[in-house]
Amino acid sequence: MTQDPVPPSPRRPAWDQDRSALPPAAQHLKGKMFHLMRARGVDAIPSPLNGSATGFAFVGGPGEKGVSRLAHAAGVCVVVDVAHYEAQMASAETPLFYTEPEGFFGHDPFYDDIIARGADLVAIPAGYVEAEDSEALKAVRDAANAVSRDDVVVVVAVDVTWLRDNRVGQLIAILRTIRHPVGLALGGQYNPTDGYVTTLSNLRRVYRELPHVGPWRTDQVNALDAMAHGALFAGIGASGSLRHLVPPKEKTFFSSKKPSVFVPELMDYFSADKLARLWANADPMTCSCRICRGGPLDRFDSEEPEAKHEAALHNLACWVQWWDELRAVSPDLRPSWLDRLLTRVGKAYEDENIRIQQAKAFIPSPTLAKLIKLAVAALANEAPVQTPVL
Ligand SMILES: [Zn+2]
Repeated sequence: MTQDPVPPSPRRPAWDQDRSALPPAAQHLKGKMFHLMRARGVDAIPSPLNGSATGFAFVGGPGEKGVSRLAHAAGVCVVVDVAHYEAQMASAETPLFYTEPEGFFGHDPFYDDIIARGADLVAIPAGYVEAEDSEALKAVRDAANAVSRDDVVVVVAVDVTWLRDNRVGQLIAILRTIRHPVGLALGGQYNPTDGYVTTLSNLRRVYRELPHVGPWRTDQVNALDAMAHGALFAGIGASGSLRHLVPPKEKTFFSSKKPSVFVPELMDYFSADKLARLWANADPMTCSCRICRGGPLDRFDSEEPEAKHEAALHNLACWVQWWDELRAVSPDLRPSWLDRLLTRVGKAYEDENIRIQQAKAFIPSPTLAKLIKLAVAALANEAPVQTPVL
């Protein structure tokens, strides 16, 4: 196991103490799940969001320009993340990337301008940290710690290999010494958490050991798992490109132009054309969320913007509903609540393939399959407590 390479610092925050002592920015983020959108085309805070347990984030430039139209609408916490880590690598020399050159007042005008438009929190503009580049990660930490404001969060975008067994100890040691809350974004082609066997359990370790960290730019499954295992907050992308962070300079492989549709019973996103094809000769699954109200889930098979818009609202309403249910469960019982849900989802894949008479039509993603396996193993060791309701 890697030893803590970071010497104790006089500026070391009290993250190990109880959470009532969290600084203001962390209090803002605590217990919230965020809906992440590109600023372009956003003209309203989506209606399924509510004030106390959810938030909204503009991601990527020029996100800060549009925030004034929406901020404080419906009392939702608004974060602006200019996301320079999408295009810039952090290095030991240049860990942060400000849009404006440093002026007489340092970089405060960058933050002041976004806050003045009505954002609650601004992401410190860090670059992307490549695999094994611990010098760059430490430089991001040091530069972030030099920002002496209480209205910021750091999005630490790292290559997913930082979650491997031989790296995670150092990742935790460095993140622990960041004085601001941390949104952890994992980079990699496709779904980063699909790749390595122990990534998911190491992520849970990060949330368990660091009360100021939450996943950023992730999907519903990973976000829910994080919130059940102690993450401070989570940020779910509204679109595929905001759920999967591709390292700078690498090509993005997104195939379908059709909407990506979340299927609650199967706890995953599927492209609308795939759903229409698989349900061509069977009744489609329906959805009881506040957008669908019992409507069929094969209705999004279109390239029209309206279909994409309604699918995005349905996807959002699904996780808001689950988050409402999960947060009603006391924190110590949340892991087993999720284990029960996951176990039921695993069975739902088998049942659905039988129902539509197509063997292996629906297969859990590698991440979901691993979570289901972990859930079945965990439940085998405990007595029943509480059954989640979809
Ligand atoms: Zn729905």
